[in-house]
Amino acid sequence: MRIAELYARPEPTISFEFFPPKSDEAEATLFRETIPALQQLRPAFCSVTYGAGGSTRDRTLRIVHRVRRDFGIEAMSHLTCVGSTRDQLAEVLDQARELGIENILALRGDPPRGETTFKPVAGGFGHAVELIGFVKGRHQFSIGGAFYPEGHIECGDKRLDWDRAAAKVAAGADFLISQLFYDANDFLECEDYLRNHHGIKVPIVPGVLPFLSAEQIKRFTSLCGAKLSADLLKRLEALAHDDESVRQLGVEICTELCRRLLDHGVPGIHVYSLNRVASTRELLTNLGLAKP
Ligand SMILES: Cc1cc2nc3c(=O)[nH]c(=O)nc-3n(C[C@H](O)[C@H](O)[C@H](O)COP(=O)(O)OP(=O)(O)OC[C@H]3O[C@@H](n4cnc5c(N)ncnc54)[C@H](O)[C@@H]3O)c2cc1C
Repeated sequence: MRIAELYARPEPTISFEFFPPKSDEAEATLFRETIPALQQLRPAFCSVTYGAGGSTRDRTLRIVHRVRRDFGIEAMSHLTCVGSTRDQLAEVLDQARELGIENILALRGDPPRGETTFKPVAGGFGHAVELIGFVKGRHQFSIGGAFYPEGHIECGDKRLDWDRAAAKVAAGADFLISQLFYDANDFLECEDYLRNHHGIKVPIVPGVLPFLSAEQIKRFTSLCGAKLSADLLKRLEALAHDDESVRQLGVEICTELCRRLLDHGVPGIHVYSLNRVASTRELLTNLGLAKP
């Protein structure tokens, strides 16, 4: 089913994102333990990330295919421009289509480790908007794009970055999913700009990350430029060496965030599950959205 249609339903559309494990053994664990446990929470769909430079291409497509076929959960493949020519991207899309995959999250991807600027390969794309237009022209996929409530880290002007998010919709994105953030006001300001300045009508969906450790969330936010409030930093410091308490704090913070966003009327919540079940389950239970 096309994800654009899932968002058209009246209830909040809950989705879980996970990444392809590095080894066959870890992939087997994902199918044996993680996905069956996530399946019990009855997500509307799952999405599977695409590793740097297409390094997970086969694994990403295989997991998306198996989640749909073996678990009956709709699934979306992420796809990035990194290291690929148009022809190579076309091959991935053809392969996805042959597997019956209907949904693609089209991204630029990050510069390789150690590099600060993104350099497209010859014959490739420099920005996600170009990939979105390219995907649009092929196979009738439902297409998602990323957006950044605080502005993308490489862009000094958040409104300019939001203009670029709007351009993704003009190029064919059927929905937008956000990067992680912890202040609902950032999301609401960005959403208001997209809706009222640009007249965007497609679903604008918050991505939330229930963090697992203090070190992890500090690293993630410094890499992607999202901020942690002074109050949240203080609470993290107080618990820093107790990962279980920090994990519970992550659930608590995301519960408050999601409550406010759901009250506001967002069409769904995209949970960055980090391939873990406990926090995702507790978050949905707190929100009254776990469907046993
Ligand atoms: C929901 C979500 C899922 C993700 N999944 C993955 C994944 O699976 N794999 C992965 O590697 N990464 C993933 N990422 C991370 C993403 O690849 C990075 O954030 C990346 O740095 C930007 O990707 P983008 O698609 O937003 O790029 P773009 O939209 O191309 O934006 C990148 C930068 O270029 C600027 N820009 C955009 N268009 C133009 C233009 N026309 N002219 C000049 N500047 C422009 C933007 O302002 C921004 O600063 C994900 C991010 C999100 C939010």
